[in-house]
Amino acid sequence: MILAVLHWFRSFGLALLVGVALLFVATAEAQNKKPKVTIKPANELAQLREKFINATKEYKTSLAKLLDIYERNVTKAEEKLAQSQSLYSEGLISKVQLAEAETAVTEAKAKVNEARTQMTNADTQIANTLVEAQAEAQLAKMPLRKGGLLRTTSYIRYGGAAAWGLSEAWKVQRFFHDSFKMELPVAVFGQGAIHDRWRLDHRNAMDVSLHPDGPEGQLLMNYLRANGIPFLAFRSAIPGTATGPHIHIGRPSHRF
Ligand SMILES: [Zn+2]
Repeated sequence: MILAVLHWFRSFGLALLVGVALLFVATAEAQNKKPKVTIKPANELAQLREKFINATKEYKTSLAKLLDIYERNVTKAEEKLAQSQSLYSEGLISKVQLAEAETAVTEAKAKVNEARTQMTNADTQIANTLVEAQAEAQLAKMPLRKGGLLRTTSYIRYGGAAAWGLSEAWKVQRFFHDSFKMELPVAVFGQGAIHDRWRLDHRNAMDVSLHPDGPEGQLLMNYLRANGIPFLAFRSAIPGTATGPHIHIGRPSHRF
C-alpha cells in the first residue's frame, strides 16, 4: 500500500512539480514583459524621485544658509545683551531697555531652533508637498459636497462641515495629547518656503506625520469628522523613500 502511494506520488508529484515550475516561468515571463510594454509609468516614477531628491537638496542648502544668518544674529544679540547688562549696572539704561535686549536674544534663538527643526523635517516636508501637488489636479476633477467623504486607494478626503482656520489647531493638538499622552506629530504648520516655491496655498493647513491606516491616524480622522474639520489623508509614499503618507488638516492645497 505504502509503496503504491509512493509510486503514485513519484509519478504524479513529479508531473505536478513540473507543472508548477512551468507556471512560475510563465508568470515570471508575464511580469517581465509588463514594464517593457508600459515604459511611461516607470519613467514618471524615476522623474518623481529625481524631483524629490533635487528639491530636498536645494531646500536643505537654502535652509543651511538661513541657519547661518540666524546663528550670527544670536551672537550679535548676545553681544548687545552683555553690553546692556553692564550699562544697566552702571545705571545708564532702564530696566525696560535691558529686558528688550534679553527678548532679542530669546527671539534670535527661537529662529535658529525653527530652522533646525525645518532641516530635520526637510524630507517629510518635500514629500508631503509633492504628494499634495500631485493630488491637486485630481481633486479639482472631483468636487466634494460639504461634509462629504471620498475614499480612493491613495487617499481619504473629508469635505468638512464647519469653517476651519489654523488658529484652531490647538484643539486638535489637545485632543491628540489627551488621547495618546504624546504630542501631535506636526511636520508642516502653515505656509512654508517649499509651498511658496511650488506656488501652493498651505496657509490654513497643517500636515501630521501619521499613516491614515494606523490606530492614531484612525482616531484622529474620527475626531476631525466628528468636529466638521476638513482633511485629506494620503496613503501613498514617494517611490524609493519612506516619506509621503500623512494627514493634511484643512482644505486641500491649491495653486495660487
Ligand atoms: Zn498639507
